[in-house]
Amino acid sequence: IAKSRGPNSAVYYHPSMCKEVELRLEIEKELKTAIRSADEFTLFYQPQYAATGECIGAEALLRWNTAQRNLSCPSMFIPVAEDTGLMLELGRWVLFRACSQLRELQESCVPNTFKRISVNVSAAQFNQGNFLNDLINAIDQTGINPNMLCIELTESSLIKNVSDTVRKMGELRKLGIQISVDDFGTGYSSLAYLSQFPISALKIDQTFVRNLHENKGNNAIVETIMSLGDSLNLSIIAEGVECREELDALQSLGCEYYQGFLFKPPLPYDQLLPLALQGQPTISYSTDPSAT
Ligand code: C2E
Ligand code: MG
Ligand code: MG
Ligand code: MG
Repeated sequence: IAKSRGPNSAVYYHPSMCKEVELRLEIEKELKTAIRSADEFTLFYQPQYAATGECIGAEALLRWNTAQRNLSCPSMFIPVAEDTGLMLELGRWVLFRACSQLRELQESCVPNTFKRISVNVSAAQFNQGNFLNDLINAIDQTGINPNMLCIELTESSLIKNVSDTVRKMGELRKLGIQISVDDFGTGYSSLAYLSQFPISALKIDQTFVRNLHENKGNNAIVETIMSLGDSLNLSIIAEGVECREELDALQSLGCEYYQGFLFKPPLPYDQLLPLALQGQPTISYSTDPSAT
């Protein structure tokens, strides 16, 4: 048949394309079941540090423990959840879970050097009509003080509908919630918009942190983000700090807050708790213990 259609009519099928589609369908099916009971999901927490060495907060990162396959890494399943609309329900679970664990921290009298638990919110979740309601429900039902809750949004969530975003962000700020822009520099948010958003922090994407001490381009980008933060009065967090040289370079550019494997990897809640309760410098370099 292929011959009779001539050489230009062939339909090229790459076996890996088929495999990928199949894998996504399987993940979608497994996700649907998993979301119903939610007991395969957990939140890990990656501590954030100040230049002075205190643990000043932590970012909640979703993990999925499934018997079927190794999907603990969110980049495997979050895109599937986002494309299929499942992220709305999963995101609601994340919000609620993070708030309950924040409540536990607040009941354990976490010191005031510890300022936030950050929660990642997908563009679709943020832009959906019920987001504020879901958030208020989570706050009410868990009884947290929302001053310690931070929402991380990526640039792409912000530009979809600027006036709507400004209004929603205003509501969040009225509730006392902090807002940071995640993966900053990788999207295409216009600087003009950025100044309209009532945000509290920018997170420098780890691609710019990588080899900052040797890479002139990255150094220039980080320097620019630092001065932007200065003029817009935003705090700056560098993410994905992996080595001492990157930390030194960030410090000399004036960056105050850090997150990355050099400090701590994402940890189960039980391991976050003692770090959060410490209230004094506890920097420990997980990749190079001799550095302290
Ligand atoms: P993100 O929010 O930018 O999170 C930072 C990611 O960088 C995390 O990956 C973290 O484990 C990783 N990381 C931290 N320090 C280092 C480092 O020093 N070196 C390197 N190479 N990586 C580091 P993770 O946990 O795999 O999450 C990936 C992405 O998945 C997140 O990026 C976020 O966009 C998304 N995500 C995770 N949890 C959630 C969630 O609950 N809801 C939503 N909507 N998205 C989530
Ligand atoms: Mg994040
Ligand atoms: Mg990020
Ligand atoms: Mg990211």
